[in-house]
Amino acid sequence: MAINSQPRDGRGSCQQIGFCFQGCKSGAKWSTLVSEIPKGEATGNLEVRPDSHVMKIEHDASGKVTGVVYMDADNKMQRQKARIVAVAGNSIESPRLLLNSASNMFPDGLANSSGQVGRNYMRHMTGTMYGIFERPVHMYRGTTMAGIIRDEAPHNPKRGFNGGYEMETLSLGLPFMAAFLNPGAWGRTFTASMDAYSRMAGMWLIGEDMPQETNRITLDPTAKDKHGMPVASVHYDDHPNDVAMRNHAYQQSAAIYQAVGATVTLPTPPYPSTHNMGTNRMSEKPRDGVINKFGQTHDIKNLFVSDGSQFTSGAACNPTLTIVSLAIRQADHIATRMQQRDI
Ligand SMILES: Cc1cc2nc3c(=O)[nH]c(=O)nc-3n(C[C@H](O)[C@H](O)[C@H](O)COP(=O)(O)OP(=O)(O)OC[C@H]3O[C@@H](n4cnc5c(N)ncnc54)[C@H](O)[C@@H]3O)c2cc1C
Ligand code: SF4
Repeated sequence: MAINSQPRDGRGSCQQIGFCFQGCKSGAKWSTLVSEIPKGEATGNLEVRPDSHVMKIEHDASGKVTGVVYMDADNKMQRQKARIVAVAGNSIESPRLLLNSASNMFPDGLANSSGQVGRNYMRHMTGTMYGIFERPVHMYRGTTMAGIIRDEAPHNPKRGFNGGYEMETLSLGLPFMAAFLNPGAWGRTFTASMDAYSRMAGMWLIGEDMPQETNRITLDPTAKDKHGMPVASVHYDDHPNDVAMRNHAYQQSAAIYQAVGATVTLPTPPYPSTHNMGTNRMSEKPRDGVINKFGQTHDIKNLFVSDGSQFTSGAACNPTLTIVSLAIRQADHIATRMQQRDI
């Protein structure tokens, strides 16, 4: 967990107050906003231009990228020249930007000679189980995700599916819980469950979903954003493996809560995606993916992808620390290659 148990790196320790999704006043919860960005700005080498929106990446006649065109906070179009461009707009916006940057030289979008830009969109097999107990549980006290059960994480095809999943204790604040306990529900059963909030405990189920080429981000043929650029169209279907895994996870998580005295167990459907992954996948061979192991696109030497869209599979755990590790490795690689005047 990226939360300070004691003061570290200029940030405070966790006070176990809870409701971490609403923000962490003590700065115990790691985020680039409170950690890397202030440090970067202090060096004088980092300038953040908030509320800017990149519309297109440009390239020269040799195919090397030369910079980006973006709308600034005052809605003025700007052009920023760059020696290298690192795309990190999340797994939906990154492929959208590459596709929206199509040109005569790259008619299918930048870095897309394999046709893999936008494909293999993943967001984890998810679901949630809530248990209601006779006496108060106060699940909201302490960090939002305080415990992880990894017993079902290993690959064990005897269970009827490939890959595995984690069960992560989860506490939501009341407004979030009302929206997601049973989306669209109303009436006595629903309000009775909400009345039991202080006696409730939650467990998020998160597992490896299958990468599928047909789960993909494309450019919407008609809908455009306020700058006139095509928006992303997202297609995602569960693989039968994902469905089998979710059913198994519901069964095991209910069994855990029943074993510790739950009087009611409430399975809830997957939330809207929070873990976007894939869509600019890493590959050894250029024909199989978009980028190499350092996030450098196979097609364009000075164009990099630096976010979760690099993933080839989702694994049975939350993605952010892996995204950060890849970004750190990539930064070291870029620094070395720039010093060598190789890019
Ligand atoms: C409610 C919630 C809870 C989560 N909890 C966890 C957790 O407990 N553990 C975990 O590991 N992960 C968690 N995640 C997932 C995690 O936040 C993401 O996996 C991670 O942030 C993805 O990193 P990224 O670099 O791919 O994209 P992001 O962090 O989304 O960064 C993309 C950035 O690019 C910007 N951008 C996009 N397009 C453009 C453009 N055209 N021009 C300029 N800027 C642009 C966006 O505004 C954004 O700032 C959670 C997510 C949510 C929503
Ligand atoms: S419980 Fe969450 S919000 Fe509160 S201090 Fe700890 S990490 Fe921060």
